[in-house]
Amino acid sequence: MEPPVIVDCHTHLNRYFDEQPPSVQQRYAQLRAEMDANGVGFALVLSSYKVNEDRPSTADILRLVEDDPRIGVAAGISFYDLGVESLAELRALLGSGRVHALKLYPGYQAFYVYDPQLRGVYDLAAEFGVPVMIHTGDTYDRLGKLKYTHPLTVDEAAVDFREVNFVICHMGNPWLMDAAEVIYKNENVMGDISGFTLGAFEERFERLMIDKVREVVAYANGTGGLLFGTDWPICDMASYLRFVEKLGLSEDESENLLYKNAARLFRIGPAGDSHA
Ligand SMILES: [Zn+2]
Repeated sequence: MEPPVIVDCHTHLNRYFDEQPPSVQQRYAQLRAEMDANGVGFALVLSSYKVNEDRPSTADILRLVEDDPRIGVAAGISFYDLGVESLAELRALLGSGRVHALKLYPGYQAFYVYDPQLRGVYDLAAEFGVPVMIHTGDTYDRLGKLKYTHPLTVDEAAVDFREVNFVICHMGNPWLMDAAEVIYKNENVMGDISGFTLGAFEERFERLMIDKVREVVAYANGTGGLLFGTDWPICDMASYLRFVEKLGLSEDESENLLYKNAARLFRIGPAGDSHA
């Protein structure tokens, strides 16, 4: 039997704070150190919807991690860049077999995930069998627009594009129960519990979020629709794993949350190696 591997399905190599090292190589080394320190066997790195000196492109990240068996990549998509050329580039990336998911950023960009202009992206996701991860809930940026980030918007996309699997990132925080219903109703929707805090959980807020996640688990009768993710480096992995411990899940529920659901959805091998 392979030992259980924790899968963190939501991390970034972007530079968000001045304290972070300026080079992406250094941030990658930090990610690996953070994974080692916390027994995280596999991490999905999500690229941004924009590329600049603090935000490496999907191709840059793929070059950086090469064939690191413990890292997968989710390709960030810009809603304003869905032309023929961009879709051809995306097709080539997916064809390489090294992209485990796509990521959309409604709220940061002003669009609804059920916009018909996304048809080309969703067709590719269906063709290559990769899920589409969607930012939902609070935006880190005050210029973000919240109406685009409500989890009910994902229901629209999930119904219109049944052949695509969706991930409601951050469980629509603070709209966790709305996200829970969208996940419960749609077989092609799951949710990740990443990004609930900045850094480590403060005690009072942690209690609040434990209650909310427990409510979701009770409503859905388990963790079958939930994925573990942190949003590192925005949230710290040790604090997040303590948070999961405090949920008081059964062994099965905990295994599903920490790696089994992710292994299935993102097609990650048991030892963390990818066979996507
Ligand atoms: Zn994130």
